[in-house]
Amino acid sequence: MSELKRFPTDAEAKKMIVEIGRRMYMKNFVAANDGNISCKVDEDTIWTTPTGVSKGFMSEDEMVKMRLDGTVISQGDKGPSSESKMHLRIYNERKDVMAVCHAHPPISTSFAIAGMSLDRAIYPEALVNLGTVPCVHYEAPGSQGIPDSIAPYVRDYNALLLANHGAVAWGASLMEAWYRLEATEHYAMVIMYTGNIIGKANVLSCDQVGELIRLREKMGITTGGVPACAPKATNTSDVVAGQSVSAPPASGLKTYGQTESVSPCGCAGGSDSVSEAELKQITQAVIARLSGKM
Ligand SMILES: [Zn+2]
Repeated sequence: MSELKRFPTDAEAKKMIVEIGRRMYMKNFVAANDGNISCKVDEDTIWTTPTGVSKGFMSEDEMVKMRLDGTVISQGDKGPSSESKMHLRIYNERKDVMAVCHAHPPISTSFAIAGMSLDRAIYPEALVNLGTVPCVHYEAPGSQGIPDSIAPYVRDYNALLLANHGAVAWGASLMEAWYRLEATEHYAMVIMYTGNIIGKANVLSCDQVGELIRLREKMGITTGGVPACAPKATNTSDVVAGQSVSAPPASGLKTYGQTESVSPCGCAGGSDSVSEAELKQITQAVIARLSGKM
C-alpha cells in the first residue's frame, strides 16, 4: 500500500461511507440491514455505519465515530454494528489499512456457504487485486469469534470469505476496500460461470501468473496470495468461427451436486488434465523463484 497516507476529514469520511453504502445496496450485495463499512480519519479513529439500518438509505448524521479500542466517541440515534469488532481487529492487525467493507454478496456468500476459497488463476485483475481469497471457518455473526478467525489472514490477504456468512475486504482507502469487495464478487461469479455453467476454464500458466505477480509487486501490492497455475499455457490460440472447440458434452457439465467430478475449487478444470497437487507443486516452485528474485 502507498506510503503517502492522507486521512480523509470527518465530513469526507461520512460522505464516502454513505455513498459506498448506496452502491453496496444497489449492487445487491446486502439485503435489509446487512453489511457494514468503516473508514479511518486518524491513526486511532474511525467512522462506521450504525446497527440496524439499510446501507442503501443512510444519512451522514447517523454515522458512528469510534476509537480503535472500541470506545464510541459520537453517534446518531444508533450505536455501532456488532460486526464493528471485525473492522477494529483488521485495523489493529494492519496499521496501513484505512478502510473496511463487509457485505453478503450472493455469489461470494454462496462460495462461503460451500466452504470454498477463491483461488483460480483465471484472469489478471483478480490475480493482481486479490490473488486468492481464503474462506475462514464459521463463527456466529457479531461474536468475538469472527475477529479471532480472520486475524491470522489479515496480514497476508486483501479480502476473505466468512463461512456461511459473507465477504470482507480492506484497503488503503475506502474506494480500494470497496473495489476489492466488488472484485471478490466478480471473481466468485467468473469461477461459478467457468466452473459450473460453461464447464471449462483455461487456467493461466505459471509464466503468465509470474508476469502478473511481478506487475502486482511493481504496483506496491505485496499481499494477496498466489493461486495454482498450469504448467503450460492453454490460451495462446485464437478461436474463430468454425474452429471453436466443441462445447463440453451435457454429461460432462459439473454441478455442485456432482462432487465426485468437481475439483476442490468447484471448477471443471482446463483442457490439460493436471492434478490439483501438481498445480500446487508448480505454483510453489514459481513463488520460490520469484521471491528469490525480488
Ligand atoms: Zn455480516
